[in-house]
Parts: sequence; C-alpha cells; structure tokens
Amino acid sequence: MSGEQTTQNQRPEICLHGIGASPGIVRGKAFVFLARKSDLPCFKIRPERIETEVRRFHAAVAQTRRQIQALGDEMRSRVGALEASIFDAHLLVLDDPAVINKTDEAIRNSRLNAEHCFNSVAGKYIDFFSSLDDSFLKERVTDIRDVTERILRNLTGKTLDQASEYLQDHIVVSENLTPSETIGFEKCQVRAILTDTGNHTSHAAIFARTLGIPAVVGLRNATLKIAQEDDLLIDGSQGIVYINPSEKTIEVYEKIASRQSEIDMRIAADAGKDDVTLDGHRFYLEANISGKENLESLDKAKITAVGLFRSEGIFMRTNSFPDEEAQFKEYSAVTEAIPSNSNCVIRTLDIGGDKHISSSLMPPETNPFMGFRAIRFCLEFKDIFKEQLRAILRTSTRKNVRIMFPMISSLRELLAAKEVLEEAKSDLRSRDVPFDENISVGAMIELPAAVAISDDLAKHVDFFSIGTNDLTQYMLAVDRGNSKISYLYDSFHPAVLRAIAKTINSAHEAKIWCAVCGEMAGTAVFAPFLIGCGADALSMSVLNASLIRYNLRHSKLTDMQALAHEVLQEGDPRRIQERLEHFCKNIMNA
Ligand code: PEP
Ligand code: MG
Repeated sequence: MSGEQTTQNQRPEICLHGIGASPGIVRGKAFVFLARKSDLPCFKIRPERIETEVRRFHAAVAQTRRQIQALGDEMRSRVGALEASIFDAHLLVLDDPAVINKTDEAIRNSRLNAEHCFNSVAGKYIDFFSSLDDSFLKERVTDIRDVTERILRNLTGKTLDQASEYLQDHIVVSENLTPSETIGFEKCQVRAILTDTGNHTSHAAIFARTLGIPAVVGLRNATLKIAQEDDLLIDGSQGIVYINPSEKTIEVYEKIASRQSEIDMRIAADAGKDDVTLDGHRFYLEANISGKENLESLDKAKITAVGLFRSEGIFMRTNSFPDEEAQFKEYSAVTEAIPSNSNCVIRTLDIGGDKHISSSLMPPETNPFMGFRAIRFCLEFKDIFKEQLRAILRTSTRKNVRIMFPMISSLRELLAAKEVLEEAKSDLRSRDVPFDENISVGAMIELPAAVAISDDLAKHVDFFSIGTNDLTQYMLAVDRGNSKISYLYDSFHPAVLRAIAKTINSAHEAKIWCAVCGEMAGTAVFAPFLIGCGADALSMSVLNASLIRYNLRHSKLTDMQALAHEVLQEGDPRRIQERLEHFCKNIMNA
C-alpha cells in the first residue's frame, strides 16, 4: 500500500507508521492535543489591566470550584462517598483565603500575570507542607498540588481534562499520555488513541488495551502532521495511521475487516467447547484488570479468573492512597464478581516507573523504572502496605483471592514482604476480622535477578507469575516507554525466551503453579510457545483472548512443546519470530 495517494475532492493521503499498541480498525475525526502544562507564561501587565488580571484569576478559581464539585458529585454517585471525599479536601484548599489573597496581592504588587503569581504562591505552600514531619499534613501536599494544577490549567486553558467534552467519538492525538489520562478516556468514549511517544508495553498502552480502545503509539510526529478534525483511519494491530485515507485504502480495510469477521465467526462457532488442546491438555486463560470497571470485558471474553489485578489502578484513579475501608470496597467488588472456584490474583501496589501519584512520598526521580517502585516503595512505607494487605485479606473469605508481590529482586525482599503480610494478618486476628488463613502468596518474576534465583524463590511462594513487560525491559536494558529505542525492545530475543523457560522449570521443580501475565501472554504469536514451555495459565488484556483460545484449542500440546524446544535453541530473534508466526498461520489455515 502506498504512502501517498490523491483521489478526487480529497486531500492527499498520508500514511504514518508507529507501534500497534491496541488492536482495532477505526475511522474518525482527530482531536489534536498540543499543549501540556509546561513552561508557564510570565509577562508584565499594563497598570490599567491589573484589576482585569485579578478578575481573570478569580474566574479560574470559580471554574475550578465548579469542576471539583461536579467531579465529587459524579464520583459519589458512581463509586461512593468515601472516594468522593478526596474532592472535599480539594475544595478546602480552594477555601483557604491565604493562597487566594496572597495571589491577588502578588498580581497587584509585582504586576505579573496570574499564572506566574499563583504558581509561585502555591509553590511556597507546597514547599512548606513538604518540609513538615507530620505524614498527614505532608499528604495535604497532594491536594494542594492537584488543585494548583487544575487552576493553572484553567488559567492557561489547554488541558486534555478540560477538553474531555470534545473527545467523544474522536481519535485523540497527543504527544504522550499518562496512564491516569488513559484510564479517564473510558468515560469519554474516545474512538482511538495516537501518541508521538510510548511503546507497546508502556502503561498507557496497556490500559488502552484493557479498555479496548485501539491505539498506535511511538508515531514520533503525529501531533505535527495531523490537523484538528482530520479524517483518520487507524489500524491498531499494525500500528498504521492514514490521514485523509483514500478510497482505495478504505476499500482495502473493508476487506481486512470482513476477513476479521470471518475469523470472529470461526472463533464464535467454537465458543461452548472446553479449554483443552487437540491432545487433551487443559489450559487456563485469565484476565488482567485494573479495577471493577473492567469486569464487563471478562464476560465478553468468557474468562472467569483474574490472573493480574493491577491494584494501583485504584490509587491512580483517585491520585491518592485510599484507606483500608475504601480499598476493601474496591477489591470486594471484584472478588465477589469472580466465581468462588476461579482465582483472583491481586497484585500489591506497583507504583513508580511510569505510574505516578502526585504525593510527597513519591518525589521525582531521574531513573524511575530503576528506582523507588513497587515492593521497594511498600517496604519503605509499611503502613500503606499493611493497610492494603489488610484490605485484600478481608476480601479472601470466599477463598478465591491470591496475593502477589511485584518487582521482587531478592529472597530477602520476598521474605520481608511476607513478614508484613503476617503482621497484617495478626492485626485482623486481633480485630476478630475473618480472612483466609491459607491465602496463596505469589511473586512476580520480572527482573533478571529473580529469574536467576527463581529456584530459591519458588521454595517460599505458592505461585509465580512472569511479568514479561518488565522482564524484557530489564533483561535488555530498554526503557519500555521510550519509543526512540523501541526497536530494541524485542520480546523475541532469545535471552527473554530462555529466562521464561527457566522460570517455569524452577516453578515446576518446586511443584508450584507458574502463570505468565505480561503482554506476551496476550499476544497470539507467543501463546503456543508459552504453553509449550509449560506455562499453567496465560493472563492477558482480554482483547486477544478469543483468538488465543482458538489457536490453543486447535493445536496439540506435543507440537507446542516441540515448537518451544526448537525456538529455545535458536539465537536469532527474527528467525524465532518467523517460526512462531508460521506456527500460528498454520493453525488458521488448517
Ligand atoms: C509486567 O511487567 O509484565 C507486568 C505484568 O506488570 P506491569 O506491566 O504492570 O509492570
Ligand atoms: Mg511489571
């Protein structure tokens, strides 16, 4: 297919190539989001305009108040009063006359613009609260920061949040997106997401897949090439974007869509059968979720178990550390929806890396993926960790809950996490709160160090789950969110595949269960290899589940084992890729 074509009455077609991050073919109008809160403007105000500038500031404060009240009302009706209380705290910040009056004063005295004056007044408060020893007051910094950013956005008038009413049915084009912005798109009925930066396993991409929103990331300069309201055609699997698609391109994609629906029909015809291979081996497909909002997609994919509940979704949605009670409600909404004979693996808090919460407990870092993340954060802030563990334990009375620790790098760390779990259990015992005394405990194997000592780790847990997203990033030293080096982020690399095989072997030697929950588990081409290596379950963003299920049901375990054996001897990633693709093609052509 050519890059540029012209048809009658149409602007030339332009084709952009990026990384297919979430599958789906969609057509729609572009909403280009250019400006982000970065360099705030600073300029002098003419004396006769000073009172207008003060009024402009007050209008932004009033607008912020209305937005926060509306958000609080929505949260109260959709989620509950407890979660909504965060917005009451935000309103208190707005009611503090000191910040408002000092900003008025600063505008009048310095004759500088409102954004600049407000930012420096609020900055002083943030510094003051951050310097306090009291962790409650320290936490207020999060609220002040949040409100400050909202007022600044209203003053500068260029935010995605503010634009949400325009996003419906549009294809959002942005330089980058945070995971929490992406989670917010569920409500806005965004058709697709395009970003200049990012990678297949950056968390914004993962959340797009979890929400079923097609996405292409790492497009480099989409925000420059695509204009507001441009007609776009997106192929989220191949990572292709057509600006002003020609009639020929549209025709080609209509054919692809009809081929896809043929495949969908074949898959649907298979629906009621058991999840066993042609030679009778039972396999398990499970779901990756980030909250109760994703449960509907499980029904659609006919999956009953959750192999990875990314609990940080709850923290990121509220941009705070919800207390035990609030977390208990969130977790039980999920665990109660899962049949009692299916697993629900709740992974403890994995913030840090590209998943940030604006809190003084998480100061900016120069190298966040290698930094203060996941279990490292939890072992430092044991109160937060224990609060979460108690909330999880309380949901375990139906005995379908399992606890999993992320980013384990040593036996000492695993044992320390288990010790905190024991403390959480005795807290509950002393409160006479029931929980599953024999709750299963697992470790994510996602660091090369954990692979190397997987035989030791396996003796201390009930299960492993291999996090191939981080495993690939850390094995190959390639930041999973950096599109500049995405060509190096290669899960076909033999080092990654052999690390997976070694981990599964260690687990099975210790007679424990080993699942795979990184994105490789939900990528059709890898599934036969993983099952061939002996993976007990594949946990995935459910979009590809039906295709993977079809492929596994129509293969023999012995063939997949032979495939795994062959591929593990191969040293060239491209030959490995060819071999795995060939295996999948043959299933469909059979
Ligand atoms: C992984 O690293 O593969 C994983 C499943 O965890 P996350 O993507 O949330 O880091
Ligand atoms: Mg991970």
